[in-house]
Amino acid sequence: MITATSSERPVRVLIADDHPTNRAVLEVILSFIQAELVTVEDGAQALEAFKTGNFDIVLMDLQMPVMDGLSAIREIRRFEAETGRHATPVLAVSANAMSEHVAASRAAGADQHIAKPVIPDALLRIMGERIRQAATPQSDHRKMNHVIGNAT
Ligand SMILES: [Mg+2]
Repeated sequence: MITATSSERPVRVLIADDHPTNRAVLEVILSFIQAELVTVEDGAQALEAFKTGNFDIVLMDLQMPVMDGLSAIREIRRFEAETGRHATPVLAVSANAMSEHVAASRAAGADQHIAKPVIPDALLRIMGERIRQAATPQSDHRKMNHVIGNAT
């Protein structure tokens, strides 16, 4: 489990999934860590939220109306490049987990592909790893290390 102490800021997580049950499942899993969640229902909402949300990590469903997850991930990477921001970890979360789906999400700019149904311990471990990897001294490296704590 990812642990956090009350004196540190919570991890900010953007969740994009069009299915309410999937959003609820992720909310339950993330209730085990100190996280601030913003949940949206399609890729366009995800992109808008991302631009102002200062997130530590994004969990992106792939099949969504309005704008699909792959397009949203590409737009997020484009936004980061245009604004000179560091790359925020993005995990593609999808029931489509065949090799071509994994390759497509990586090509769009996802850091990793998580298969549904999501395994809670695995998701939290991967989130911790990705957030730690993305943390830099320029942001708040020491704080982030402390927030993520140790996976046990
Ligand atoms: Mg979906």
